Amino acid sequence: MRPFRFTAVTSFEQLGQRSPQSSYLAGGTTLVDLMKLEVMTPDELIAIDQLPLRGVGEDADGLRIGALETMSAVAAHPAVVSGYEAISQALLQSASPQLRNMATIGGNLLQRTRCSYFRDTNSACNKRVPRSGCPAINGENRMLAILGTSSSCIATNPSDLAVALVALDARVHLRGQGRTRTVALRDFYLEPGDRPDRENVLEPGELITEVTVPRPPVGAKTGYVKVRDRASYEFALTSAAVVLSMDGDRVRKAEVAVGGVGTRPWLLPNVGAALNGRTLDRPSLEAAAALAANGAKRYSDNGFKVELMQRTVIRAFSQLGGLV
Ligand code: FAD
Ligand code: SF4
Repeated sequence: MRPFRFTAVTSFEQLGQRSPQSSYLAGGTTLVDLMKLEVMTPDELIAIDQLPLRGVGEDADGLRIGALETMSAVAAHPAVVSGYEAISQALLQSASPQLRNMATIGGNLLQRTRCSYFRDTNSACNKRVPRSGCPAINGENRMLAILGTSSSCIATNPSDLAVALVALDARVHLRGQGRTRTVALRDFYLEPGDRPDRENVLEPGELITEVTVPRPPVGAKTGYVKVRDRASYEFALTSAAVVLSMDGDRVRKAEVAVGGVGTRPWLLPNVGAALNGRTLDRPSLEAAAALAANGAKRYSDNGFKVELMQRTVIRAFSQLGGLV
């Protein structure tokens, strides 16, 4: 690990004097690993865990989650468990209990890809070293993306939580030098294009302070299904977060986002729209899920994800709709 300075702050005002190469440290569950691997080499770590950014609350507009709240506390919060099930389910299927007790919501949303070349400084990687190449495109890509890829990078975004929050149309609240702003999570993450090193719209020094989630429509159900190689402690091959409102046996409104398949959490508006007004049954689900493959690009080892993604979407809606 490279030497670095360590600073702990207790107020937002103290953030002003940060070095441009500094990183914020929240739970440290992924940043410290990446520093040990020398994939991330900040010259200063600024511990933010004493900032007043904890807590979960609900009001008429929806849910508010402090960026420093832990994954385990959010997953277990009664308001989340009973009204925003997809968030709780996504968190409980992430990492391990020990990690969830340390790891924070802000850190989860900003974790880096698990592409093995990115984590190996002996490999080329356009995301880690711009214009050095992408060995994954013709190499080990079983876990990598089929949607939103480019000739520069095909890495997946690994966050389960982000998939649930995109389906629920959450907002992230940001605080930078002298200004605060709010960004829809659907607009927060960037596709790689020819700049895979730029992963989101966060500006240097900007902090995620809070996540807000609009209250799902009355009577709507939400859920998260994750398919992975092991039953726990494993990243998604595919996942689907769904929001479903019904009028009898007809779909009033459906929304779905998928994970494990996109270079960012991937909203599938066409799939949701194809279900609206339809009877929720196997044929309508299969017809809608077929649209998930639009624009998908298969690589040497990950072509199976196209069908697996469609099946994951069908299973997620079937579970919520009581078809299985
Ligand atoms: P840190 O490690 O402290 O920070 C991560 C990054 O976010 C850093 O760049 C830091 O500067 C930045 N940051 C943190 N907070 C803020 C903020 N408020 N504002 C601005 N920048 C900030 N995740 C899943 O979703 N699904 C999984 O299945 C899963 N499995 C895992 C398995 C293992 C073995 C491990 C180690 C991790 C796994 N994770 C998984 C990732 C885990 O969820 C993240 O490590 C964790 O959420 C990161 O949170 P943290 O608070 O520890 O972040
Ligand atoms: Fe790097 Fe992206 Fe290629 Fe992986 S897929 S090696 S992260 S450029």
